[in-house]
Amino acid sequence: MDRNAVAGTIPASQKDEGIFPTVFSLTIGIGAIYMFRLGFSIRGAIRMPRLILHVDMDAFYTSIEQHDNPAIRGRPVVVGADPRGGLGRGVVSAASYEARAFGIHSAMPISQAYRRCPGAVFLPPRSERYAEVSDRIMRILGGFTPLVEPISIDEAYLDCTGTENLFGKPAELGARIKEAVRGETGLTASVGMATNKSVAKIASDLQKPDGLVICEPGREREFIAPLPIGRLWGAGKKTVKELESRGFRTIGDIASLPLSRMEGLLGRWGEHLWLLANGMDERPVCDDSERKSYSEEITFDTDTGDAALVERVLFEIADRLSYKLRSDGVKGRTITLKIRLEGFETHTRSATMSEPVNDMAAIRKTAVRHFREFDRAGRRVRLVGIRLSNLEDAADASERQLGLFEERGADDSRPDSESEAERVLDRMRERFGGKVTRATLLKGLDDGE
Ligand SMILES: [Mg+2]
Repeated sequence: MDRNAVAGTIPASQKDEGIFPTVFSLTIGIGAIYMFRLGFSIRGAIRMPRLILHVDMDAFYTSIEQHDNPAIRGRPVVVGADPRGGLGRGVVSAASYEARAFGIHSAMPISQAYRRCPGAVFLPPRSERYAEVSDRIMRILGGFTPLVEPISIDEAYLDCTGTENLFGKPAELGARIKEAVRGETGLTASVGMATNKSVAKIASDLQKPDGLVICEPGREREFIAPLPIGRLWGAGKKTVKELESRGFRTIGDIASLPLSRMEGLLGRWGEHLWLLANGMDERPVCDDSERKSYSEEITFDTDTGDAALVERVLFEIADRLSYKLRSDGVKGRTITLKIRLEGFETHTRSATMSEPVNDMAAIRKTAVRHFREFDRAGRRVRLVGIRLSNLEDAADASERQLGLFEERGADDSRPDSESEAERVLDRMRERFGGKVTRATLLKGLDDGE
């Protein structure tokens, strides 16, 4: 709520709260309540629509490779595991548009990618290079608004409400951002613009690569109505299947259902999707300082029983996460392994360290230990992920480690994150019923996957 105000709904609306109590400070009781309500209605009436951008780099890893090595521009490029050494195990991390034409996509087993296009250029990931380019892009975006929320290495939301005086109309702003990114990195981005996150994200994907798609305020619902349900953020394969089996195909099909019908079909989640399908999404753009966790996960193209493969993937994830933490100058105290088995059963295992960490070895060690200790009873693995939470400024953490007079008592009184998470979970269960699992909690905190 408060973030929305900051996000641009007119500074005057914040002043209301200041002016009313001052002018009417003698008014008491019902009068005061009345004025408070009046303040609210004025605020509602003059509320300006937000201008939210979703900026998404096009085929990020492979575009960087092609940029850095002109000899492979225009050729199919696959970043991922080694298809020849390593017995062809491991997955595709990214595929260039030329490689996608052969049906190669990320998370596909590398051996399959090799069969589809043996002549492609296969490259190992250069995580540090990608993270470095990502940092530059996020800095460029930060030149347009302080409200930048990176959601992955190559995607971010921006709240640019009220920037028209500086950067012009939305179309001009979008073009400027794309030009700035291209000018400084040589890479193309696709930009979606709308009054909210959900519609902006859908828009950025509609004209890839190098797209710029704007949804005018007030047209959100009709803008997304003709699109397939799978485009909705949060509509997973299972949900889509469920809805399609009942004859619903487009976002418009479910938008026009009564809310109660969607709730009947999908429970609480039904309400969420129904709101998104109707073009409504109030979630604010949160900048980095609001960030609660760093996480990354990978879904295997086919469920795997290969423990060595899972551990290699965990290694890759730990590597990328630790770099991101270090470059952001933060450490995390709680390391969580997320594992989803065949049949969508999802589990998490967390450990909270005595001292926060951001080095790859520590993150990997803990995640792998969790994985080895986890009894999956022979079932195959569909997805794995790692999340670091309980974040601290890296500088503060080192300072405390050096502190000679650290008091045991103060340390003990620090909230134990496990029990804190349990309390949050309990509160959510009270509100939303038994459907809330630890996994949905993680998802909520990360604000989408
Ligand atoms: Mg992308």
